[in-house]
Amino acid sequence: MKAIRGAITVDKDSPAQIKDAVGQLLSEMVARNSVNSDQIVCIMFTNTVDIKSYYPAKAARECGYSHCALFSSAEPEIVGSLERCIRVMMLVESDKMPSHVYLKEAVSLRKDITKIINIALDGPAGSGKSTVSKMVAKRLGILYLDTGAMYRAIALKCVRDNADYCDKDAVKNIVNKLNLTIDYKDGKQITLLDGEDVGELIRTPQVSLLASYVSAYSFVRTKMVELQRRIASKFSCILDGRDIGTNVLPSCEFKFYLTASPEVRAKRRYEEEIAKGTNLSFEDVFKEINERDFQDKNRAIAPLTQAADAILIDSSSMTAEEVAEAIVTKVRENM
Ligand code: C5P
Repeated sequence: MKAIRGAITVDKDSPAQIKDAVGQLLSEMVARNSVNSDQIVCIMFTNTVDIKSYYPAKAARECGYSHCALFSSAEPEIVGSLERCIRVMMLVESDKMPSHVYLKEAVSLRKDITKIINIALDGPAGSGKSTVSKMVAKRLGILYLDTGAMYRAIALKCVRDNADYCDKDAVKNIVNKLNLTIDYKDGKQITLLDGEDVGELIRTPQVSLLASYVSAYSFVRTKMVELQRRIASKFSCILDGRDIGTNVLPSCEFKFYLTASPEVRAKRRYEEEIAKGTNLSFEDVFKEINERDFQDKNRAIAPLTQAADAILIDSSSMTAEEVAEAIVTKVRENM
């Protein structure tokens, strides 16, 4: 049996907000831990005394968690504690390492047992970082933070606003007004630009190359790195990018640098493009990869480079499963 912990805050003590928050928290806990309803033995809630309008346990029953034991109680009033917070402990029949979930303003009060682990996975385009990160995240029950998606969203905004990426002031203007949110639904990252899910739209070769250019601006990096650090401090996650081990989380305990030969990387990207139905030639993809490599490795701020304490993995002749296995083994050995 394992105990999965979680907490969420609400803005207002209203039945609708409490029901929504309980539903969101429980479904996120279930998704991140790949738990099915038969495995849930009991769910226990506590809430701060400023939550009076609805019982979290009743909300859970209404969200479909009626097959297990439910219990809720109010916490004693403690000066300085978080306001309007609902905490939960879910007991499940499982032997997997639990992934605890803290949403909105909520934080863990038991840092000793809800230790946050961060894994930095850096490397050039096409090295397999995102495929491997998704596999590692699933196997360890942690989140995957795709930091490239953030730079891609800024690039997409430049395209939409007809801003020239060479015009520093125009890009600055976009960054100052940027409405970018990284959210998680059922354990998967949702990248919201001006409230729209742009997860697919940011994957074009045009946006890829533009992302590489806009990410070289210091004001772009400062803002994105701040957001990445905030997410990494709240959730156990694997972050893939170019500067995670060197700049975003320099004291992260698990660092990997994934690479492969330029030909192998271009071939992987080319096959992805063909599968998507685009008619780019191998030469186009190879050129784009090389241009991005050059730009990412030679920019002045936080260039792509292997952190001194990162483990190097060359995936040229490895499958994604083999790379994921190597990372998971290393992390488990040292956890
Ligand atoms: O990883 P992905 O290909 O999605 O990244 C797109 C671009 O964003 C990269 O070519 C790189 O210039 C930039 N990037 C970055 N730092 C990160 C992640 C991505 O500069 N941590």
